[in-house]
Amino acid sequence: MNKNDIVTVSIEDFTREGEGVGRAEGCTLFVKDAVIGDVVRARITRPKKTYAYARIEEIIAPSPDRVPARCPEARRCGGCRMQELSYEKQLLFKRKLVRDALERIGGFSVREAGSLEECSSFEGGLAPDMESTSSSGGQEVLLLPVLGMKEPFRYRNKAQYPVERREGRSEAGFYAGRTHSLIPVRDCVLLNEVNSRILTAFLSYMDTYGVPAYDEASGRGTVRHLLIREGFSTGEILVCPVINGRSLPHKKALTRALTAIPGVCSISLNCNEKRGNAILGEETIPLLGNPWITDVLGGMTFRISPRSFYQVNPSQTEVLYAEALRAAGLTGEEVVYDLYCGIGTISLYLARGAKEVYGVEIVPDAVRDAGENAARNGIENVHFYVGAAEKLVSLGEFAPGVPCPRPDVVVLDPPRKGCDPSLIKAVRSFGPKRIVYVSCDPATLARDLKLFASSGEGESYHPVYVRPVDMFPHTGHVESCALLKRVSG
Ligand code: SAH
Repeated sequence: MNKNDIVTVSIEDFTREGEGVGRAEGCTLFVKDAVIGDVVRARITRPKKTYAYARIEEIIAPSPDRVPARCPEARRCGGCRMQELSYEKQLLFKRKLVRDALERIGGFSVREAGSLEECSSFEGGLAPDMESTSSSGGQEVLLLPVLGMKEPFRYRNKAQYPVERREGRSEAGFYAGRTHSLIPVRDCVLLNEVNSRILTAFLSYMDTYGVPAYDEASGRGTVRHLLIREGFSTGEILVCPVINGRSLPHKKALTRALTAIPGVCSISLNCNEKRGNAILGEETIPLLGNPWITDVLGGMTFRISPRSFYQVNPSQTEVLYAEALRAAGLTGEEVVYDLYCGIGTISLYLARGAKEVYGVEIVPDAVRDAGENAARNGIENVHFYVGAAEKLVSLGEFAPGVPCPRPDVVVLDPPRKGCDPSLIKAVRSFGPKRIVYVSCDPATLARDLKLFASSGEGESYHPVYVRPVDMFPHTGHVESCALLKRVSG
């Protein structure tokens, strides 16, 4: 197959990157923006030996699952990969992503179930058929349906817009998929409308006062990104320009323009003078108000600093945390670890039903937020420690002279790369009864579940069920909450 060849292809599958997959002339085609069920005429853009990338020339017969995109930039912008697939089908697709990872990477045999109740004995230990090894060789794990949203738009509470100078003006938006080519977007349909007002005010401040955007190629210029975070329950908005330097000119004009927008109560500068892809630098300088905002989850108030992790979809976060709490099966007597605890959100959820909770997090600002959050919610049975979870738990000390007590339940919520094998080893040697694994990447989840299930040093853990939660509609990402139980009971 050659570049610019035109072929007709039926789309039978979908990739995480949002490409439709079909076959033509013995070759697998990845067709950008095509949806399962489409029949399209496609132009080959990048031919390889056994596969090729292609673009739609014409949709000959649209898929019944095709819906119009809400955003005019949906096809160019790298954020939404599936806006043209019906939401119902997105959820089925995400369940399949989790299933494939559990089977192919984890080596498990997956049984799909409509609800946990269908698996009657899941609370009473492992059901006999779950302990068995199925014909395909793997242990059986139950896969529940993806919990989706009723209204899957305007759900995000955080945006980091790259800022550039274009045609004599400052522009902000998002990068096209896998590039650093800016697609100007003012009103992203995943974010609240207030973001576009903030962007407009900020970009016009830059142009009025000649504040230069940062240029990646030369490393010159000032403004790199604009970070906006909103507490959906409180309406509080934090605006944080990320700059190559330590100050901005005409700060008064900037704060005046931004505070004219209802909700904006915190303005900080984040300093990032390093070349490279990391968005935030180490230092944050407050300009106005507190250098954090607050939000409410599960009836508790949380303080969130610019550098701290906070889930981006608050309504689904409550759904996810309820799943984590349910999986933890607390009675009030347990010692619980919340590893990768961020600002302590899951820890405080757990603390209400546990004896003691120990949270570990690597970002010092987040640990400070976590301590503050425990205090402001009057929760005393939680303890937070800063450090790499794998290091502290392997050492058996949360801090010098503070030994890790034996946990009954361990909650893990690592970033996309999953857990360090040394952490899995250390948790297995502590031997908690249950492990709750909250994951934002099915591939690393499956890899880590396999490590927990293997026989060897320490206890082995059987994944009882996996519950995916759709935290990121229209993107290829899927969150999951898995319950693992100690095989020895
Ligand atoms: N459970 C929290 C945070 C989850 S995100 C919540 O639901 O909000 C993952 C967190 O792990 C981030 O806060 C990140 O800073 C932290 N992290 C990354 N690597 C880590 C490590 N090796 N040890 C401890 N925390 C780590």
